[in-house]
Amino acid sequence: MTEKRVAIVTGASRGIGEAIAKHLAKAGVHVVAVARSADKLAGVVEAIAAAGGSAEFATVDIADGKALAGLIESIADKHGRLDVLVNNAGITRDGLFLRMEDADFDDVINTNLKSAFVAMRAGARSIMRSKTGRIINIGSVSGVTGNAGQANYSASKAGLIGLTKTVAKELAGKGVTVNLVAPGFISTDMTDVLPPQVKEKVLPLIPLKRMGNPDEIAAVVAFLASEGASYITGQVVVVDGGMVM
Ligand code: NAP
Repeated sequence: MTEKRVAIVTGASRGIGEAIAKHLAKAGVHVVAVARSADKLAGVVEAIAAAGGSAEFATVDIADGKALAGLIESIADKHGRLDVLVNNAGITRDGLFLRMEDADFDDVINTNLKSAFVAMRAGARSIMRSKTGRIINIGSVSGVTGNAGQANYSASKAGLIGLTKTVAKELAGKGVTVNLVAPGFISTDMTDVLPPQVKEKVLPLIPLKRMGNPDEIAAVVAFLASEGASYITGQVVVVDGGMVM
């Protein structure tokens, strides 16, 4: 059995997931970084090793439920344990709902919501055996408030809140905590593609007057994954510079 606590982080090839992987590794956890891009994941694993941490990577399309469940089970088998699962990978397919195609709705729900259900179900047995089992789902303020142009994305992230709160109740008896972190506007590839006029509209709505950075989300996730967070479960932790009051 691997001596260190073992964490799986999806969407760890860049952005918020990469920062989460690095923060967890710094906290002494062995990280399995998961996404589709092997070259980028290899770079993240290399950077973690160079900083004295321990990590490996695995590729999967999380929208493929069978492949995702198989991967989670094989990682838990390989290490003889699974302590932390961070469901972070997510996509947007923005557009006004009147013109939204079924495929854009289904892709976002499958990738952002169903994958978290599949991963939690596949990992639950191993996480329940951990003395410090933690599941952290990455939502969004869009799932709390709704957001014009993001019917699919907001629905997926709101669904993730209900899923988190339910699984928290079902796994509480086994000492596993399940929480959701809801970021506001964070500088990553996901928000880099937004047109300048969108960013100009959003900035005045943020009391801290700036976009957040991935480390500011990762620090909260690392805390929720730590032993110190043992009495927090079923919560939505909003990290948005004060936007949603
Ligand atoms: P990002 O920079 O676009 O990164 C997304 C990550 O998810 C990448 O590692 C990507 O890796 C992975 N991914 C996407 N689709 C995948 C799939 N089908 N299978 C496996 N991996 C997949 O996004 P981010 O800004 O870091 O966002 C991370 C999470 O935070 C998402 O859930 C997002 O909804 C949430 N969030 C972000 C913001 C923000 O302002 N940035 C705000 C609120 C919530 P590959 O492309 O290599 O597969």
